[in-house]
Amino acid sequence: MNRIPVNEPDLTGNEQAYVLDAVKSGWISGGQYVKNFERMFAEFVGTKYAITTTSGTAALHLAVASLGIGPGDEVIVPALTIIATVNAVCYTGATPVLVDSEPDTYNIDPNLIEAKITPKTRAILPVHLYGHPADMDPILELARRYHLRTVEDAAEAHGAKYRGRMCGGLGNVNCFSFYGNKIITTGEGGMVTTDDDVLAERVSRLKDLSHSKERRFMHTDVAYTLRMTNIQAALGVAQMERANQFIGKKRWMADTYKQALDGIPGILLPIEKPWAFNVYWMYAILVTSEFGCSRDELMTRLNDRGIDTRSFFFPMHIQPVFKKMGLFREEYYPVAERLSEQGMYLPSGLTITEEQINQVADAIRSIHREVSG
Ligand SMILES: *Cc1c(COP(=O)(O)O)cnc(C)c1O
Repeated sequence: MNRIPVNEPDLTGNEQAYVLDAVKSGWISGGQYVKNFERMFAEFVGTKYAITTTSGTAALHLAVASLGIGPGDEVIVPALTIIATVNAVCYTGATPVLVDSEPDTYNIDPNLIEAKITPKTRAILPVHLYGHPADMDPILELARRYHLRTVEDAAEAHGAKYRGRMCGGLGNVNCFSFYGNKIITTGEGGMVTTDDDVLAERVSRLKDLSHSKERRFMHTDVAYTLRMTNIQAALGVAQMERANQFIGKKRWMADTYKQALDGIPGILLPIEKPWAFNVYWMYAILVTSEFGCSRDELMTRLNDRGIDTRSFFFPMHIQPVFKKMGLFREEYYPVAERLSEQGMYLPSGLTITEEQINQVADAIRSIHREVSG
């Protein structure tokens, strides 16, 4: 039996031709594809600048560092996210401060942020988890009121919109990932987007050894080499040519799952708030006790039927690395913990077919009958 993978990229456009062209041109570090990818991406998000880098994690690191954040500063992040979001804060020497999640969007709960703001707070870093935008207006309003900066982690939200505005264009400086499972992929890669001239300049310098403006090979900061290759950017250009097609496919997938999974007790489907344009990076569901078995048991039984799934992230306050650092002791984020226990995502690759979606839904329905009968 053919397994259904949890994710698979679509590389059937101009990817091969452009990668080969980059190789043949001899420009394999920087080059024209890097410039074109940045231009296309800035146009797509609607920001003045889009700056390539080596990964989403590097983009987050560069974004936080460009704000001049460092030891003694605090950055507010969601308790439920991939650890890369929080590591980026730690790399700068700043301290991450956690906020619990909204039960329905899975994103940072804006109502709980203000209580976490202290005189040390410098920035708020919301994540648009699984493709649904975080509720940005209250976050931007808090940032205005307390003179904080904002960084969006839009690694999972290429093309998502908040009240008609593009995610990745709402914060002061924002981040995307192009890892192999992301909506737009370059294998490994990332992008920083911003409208701010000063921040764009800092990101560009920090990712390239911070050469002094006056003299190349004279350096003004301990900076990094976090440059994307022209070969990766060639993939990126080919992917951007089909960005809207990919987003359409994700939304079709979500519609199809919604119909196929309708009415199964204990399966809660992902939502789309009236103000949101969800790009459903992954079709992320919750498994409650009414289903008849645990999320983990459902995952095991789907695996036995050849269906690949993933659980949600583990929340940050239970991570051994942060315990070791003395962070988040005695802290408790009940919504993030429950989501982490109940959440999983179904096969959501860009190559998924209607038949495969129905196969997944039928499997979940039949497992429900087994465990409740
Ligand atoms: C994938 C991801 C990242 C990290 O991106 P990499 O390219 O793997 O470094 C950061 N944040 C979120 C929300 C992600 O999903």
